[in-house]
Amino acid sequence: MGKEQDLLKYIESSDNYKSLKNNPQKVIEAIEEYSNTNKVGFMTIGLQKGELIIEEMRKVSPQIMIELGCYIGYSAILFGNELRRLNAGGSKASADFKYYSFEANEEYASIAQKLIDLAGLSNEVEIIIGEAGTTLPEFEQRLNREKKTYTPVDFVFIDHWKDLYVPDLRVLESLNLIYPGTVICADNIYRPGAPEYVAYVQSTPQERQKHNQTVENRSGKMYAGRWNVLYDSKTVPVRTAGRDFEDAVEITRCVEYLSG
Ligand code: SAM
Repeated sequence: MGKEQDLLKYIESSDNYKSLKNNPQKVIEAIEEYSNTNKVGFMTIGLQKGELIIEEMRKVSPQIMIELGCYIGYSAILFGNELRRLNAGGSKASADFKYYSFEANEEYASIAQKLIDLAGLSNEVEIIIGEAGTTLPEFEQRLNREKKTYTPVDFVFIDHWKDLYVPDLRVLESLNLIYPGTVICADNIYRPGAPEYVAYVQSTPQERQKHNQTVENRSGKMYAGRWNVLYDSKTVPVRTAGRDFEDAVEITRCVEYLSG
């Protein structure tokens, strides 16, 4: 946790601190600059893959977006800023759109909250602390309560631990948070790799039905998943500058529900 605290201290004591206030772009640049200058790696999405996901956001203009894995808030600031740009430019009131970021680790969440506040995105980005598999059911109830109607999510960014990608997507499906039109982007498809996830989203509904019947979800039987969700999914490779490897993002669209 030391390097993340060091980054926060560096930003808070920086001569440029004032210029970072309410400036998401500059907060992202400060994180990149610290990382490059000090040769410290952070498990953040980075600019190249970030740009790819922003392009996907622009295609669908999401209002409700969630991410699994906030870490120090880099992607929450990058995508939360884009979410605000896409919505605030139109007629939508800020109450109509939000970026919810799920994070299991309280210390990371606390660093992220400070950077999100600094970036001026506290109204648009909310961190939900706890393991997503546990906090998502309460989140779903809260969303429906607040919106007073069935409210699925428009865009999901999955970027926590790779062995949780499939279990937590099954939780999202079971809670009916995925609907025709939802876009799901998942990071680290090549490095370190998430083959089970790619197999899951690229399988046929029949294959998924078999999977969900035979593999019990770690979050419990009630979160088996919805086999009849029809996905259109592709793996998009991205060369990440400054890092000597190529990674990929899995971009998945929920096309429709098959009647079963
Ligand atoms: N999305 C971040 C970014 O690009 O800046 C990076 C996220 S980092 C790769 C993964 C994060 O997922 C870690 O901070 C970890 O604590 C968190 N995490 C792991 N398991 C989790 C879970 N079950 N629920 C929520 N967060 C989790």
